[in-house]
Amino acid sequence: MAEKSTKSSAAAEAAKKAQEALSQKKSAPKTTKSDSAASTGKKKVEHVITEVDAKSGSKEELLEITRGNALPFRIGAIVCWVLAIGFEVLAILMFAKKLDFIGTWEIPGWFWILMLALDLVLLIVGSQLWKKANHLDPAPKKNAVRFWLQNNMGVLVAAVAFIPFVILALTDKNADKQSKTIAGIVAGVALLAGVLTGIDYNPVSQEELLEAAGVDRQVYWTDGGSAFHASEDCSHLNNSVQLNHGIQAAAIEAGKTRLCKTCENRLEKEVDVEDLNKGDNSGGNEQNDGGNEELDPAA
Ligand SMILES: [Zn+2]
Repeated sequence: MAEKSTKSSAAAEAAKKAQEALSQKKSAPKTTKSDSAASTGKKKVEHVITEVDAKSGSKEELLEITRGNALPFRIGAIVCWVLAIGFEVLAILMFAKKLDFIGTWEIPGWFWILMLALDLVLLIVGSQLWKKANHLDPAPKKNAVRFWLQNNMGVLVAAVAFIPFVILALTDKNADKQSKTIAGIVAGVALLAGVLTGIDYNPVSQEELLEAAGVDRQVYWTDGGSAFHASEDCSHLNNSVQLNHGIQAAAIEAGKTRLCKTCENRLEKEVDVEDLNKGDNSGGNEQNDGGNEELDPAA
């Protein structure tokens, strides 16, 4: 992802130079702002802004781009999960003493714990990649089964990655009680950790993504970040020199999946102030809708 961004920013290098004069002109009044910020102790960098156009002309084209963005993360997740289950199989074989030697090297009796630990690490890495893929390319909410399955895949894989081990360890006739107790506790804790890290606590839907892409707002984003910003002055952009600028759909195409929380709160405050100013004619909805068009710059 980072590599891709670097490449695309390198490709945009020529365009950047062409824009440089323009962006310098643009940031001229902001330089004054930076100076006043500097006097209050806050240091701000001068941004170099690259204009980015949205590539897609339709919902289908946009979804094709986001699917492409998500694909490497999906493949990475599946590879991690397959390896995780591979380590579970090794843990099962080692616990049951079906695998005692690797070549001439005798495997220590506790080695199944290490296998379970690797199982857990790969499971968690896979789940994080999967969640990232789901945010880049979310499932449609109207398809409830697919939405549930896609967003809870990490939890399902966690079950597959530990429950067979637990069942086989606890029903192993050759294992002593103490080994079974340790196996149950270790695998139980790992299962819990896998489930808790596999859940997506803030799932995104395809409908939300398309709605966000349809919002006609100029936003800023960095190559490395995962969110886009409504304002160049956002504190999260203070340490970034290179900024991209374009409509929200262009940011989503670049893999920025959401509006940054700081900017969101700021926008919400602005809307609240607007609502307060319009409090008097709250009865007339149609009048209100008309009033939304003309934003009072003083508000
Ligand atoms: Zn922001």
